[in-house]
Amino acid sequence: MRTRRAAGLVATVVALMLLAAACGGDDGGGGQAGGTSFPEGSTMARLQQAGKVRVGTKFDQPLFGQKNLEGNLEGFDVEIAKIIAGELGIQPSGIEWVESVSANREPFIQQDKVDFVVATYTINDKRKQVVDFAGPYYVAGQDIMVKKGNPLGITGPDDLAGKKVCSVTGSTPAENIRTNYPQAKLTEFDVYSKCAEALKNDQVEAVTTDNVILLGLINQDQEAFELVGKKFTEEPYGIGVKKGDTQFRNFINDVLEKTYQDGRWQQAWDATAGKVATEEATPPTVDRY
Ligand code: GLU
Repeated sequence: MRTRRAAGLVATVVALMLLAAACGGDDGGGGQAGGTSFPEGSTMARLQQAGKVRVGTKFDQPLFGQKNLEGNLEGFDVEIAKIIAGELGIQPSGIEWVESVSANREPFIQQDKVDFVVATYTINDKRKQVVDFAGPYYVAGQDIMVKKGNPLGITGPDDLAGKKVCSVTGSTPAENIRTNYPQAKLTEFDVYSKCAEALKNDQVEAVTTDNVILLGLINQDQEAFELVGKKFTEEPYGIGVKKGDTQFRNFINDVLEKTYQDGRWQQAWDATAGKVATEEATPPTVDRY
């Protein structure tokens, strides 16, 4: 009799615990995702409660952020964004993808048009004056793409003197050419796909940006282009967030570190950019500046 009553009590306590867990329990008003309780008033709690997040990414960069024929986005940046959303308890269907070209990444963050940006976005001091960065989650390097067969024999940035080279407005590679290789004749578009088009049509003689972006463009048109294959900068990719939102930045850094450990980073890489990358990739060390 006594044992049966004790068993009944245990069952009641377990049932109450399960109910409390299902209701989110007392989390002090913050949100919960997968058992995680977020501090009240934090960006994480707000997004988790909304069940939606706005992510700025590229729409025309193969391997990183590209719309496929079904209208869905694919690429490494897209996978990283999905993981972060997932850790907030947000399904991929709850992500609103906002096309962010190189020049509008800082403004979109500053004007609250996006909650975060994952878009082959180099962390640097100039940008850190207006936005904050989690990461890096990958380190690329500036390189040069030329026509197949490299008819002009371009082997590095010094060979761009007097040549028409294309890059994108608001990008670090364009800035680097303007500042350090002023003899190159720089043409700027808003997106890299237009630079690839211009190279194909002989309107320019080279395209310059991060090696992995160029590899994506080459992979789409292997008969047309090739990579010079000598990186001449370091481009650590970060996730842009509103300046001063240290809590959110720390949260994303924690998520990144978790994915470095549990294999999700590697899986995302192997399924996207890793398919064509010429170098083995390892997760970089997060910089909690
Ligand atoms: N990583 C460089 C940048 O953030 C070039 C790539 C891009 O324009 O997205 O400017």
